Amino acid sequence: MNLKKLPRHGILFILSAPSGAGKSTLRAGLQCDQDFAYSVSCTTRAPRPGEADGVDYHFISREEFERRIAAGEFLEYAQVHNNYYGTLKSEVLDVVRSGGDVLVDIDTQGAAKIRASSDAEIRAALVDVFLMPEHMDVLRARLAKRGTETPEQIALRLHNAEIEMRDWRLYQYALVTTTPEEDLAGFRAIMRSERSRSSRLLFNPIA
Ligand code: 5GP
Repeated sequence: MNLKKLPRHGILFILSAPSGAGKSTLRAGLQCDQDFAYSVSCTTRAPRPGEADGVDYHFISREEFERRIAAGEFLEYAQVHNNYYGTLKSEVLDVVRSGGDVLVDIDTQGAAKIRASSDAEIRAALVDVFLMPEHMDVLRARLAKRGTETPEQIALRLHNAEIEMRDWRLYQYALVTTTPEEDLAGFRAIMRSERSRSSRLLFNPIA
């Protein structure tokens, strides 16, 4: 079998989900895949146990984040749960422009900003996926079970989840969460289909 990668336009995959929908599990499963780059965001929130700087996030101070905003380093940024989160241009643009794929895990505000990008190349590269429960009750149950947040934090996350859920129809794909295995298979199927779009291919088999 010929494993040579055929030339095509790169894809910017956006993955969004409300808290508790299973996005971290899906992302962890996807990180085993070697066929795309994962964009590491900057955040001003403190690392959770087990999170590593430069792997899960670039953990930076508010001052440093604001310096980077002023320097135009972000493709998008937003305030989520009272902290800044942002996607660095350096994590995304070169890879996509050279025909590679990048996955960004961002909230609905960030996805809206990238959709509204003035850069036609970015808009053409964009494939946005919303991982969501069949019903909000699934989120309530999962968040309560997780046990990593205080009751106040859970209440804030649920409130934000309800707001984020309102945007589900703005995404090209809505992936309804079932099991981690199914979610992973579903996301990989989307990636595979998008990579086969004729508009992305930069070779001509009949030339
Ligand atoms: P967490 O603190 O649980 O890691 O993430 C909270 C939320 O921030 C999630 O919805 C996540 O997708 C979002 N997020 C993470 N990185 C970024 C980013 O670079 N930009 C935006 N807009 N949201 C982000």
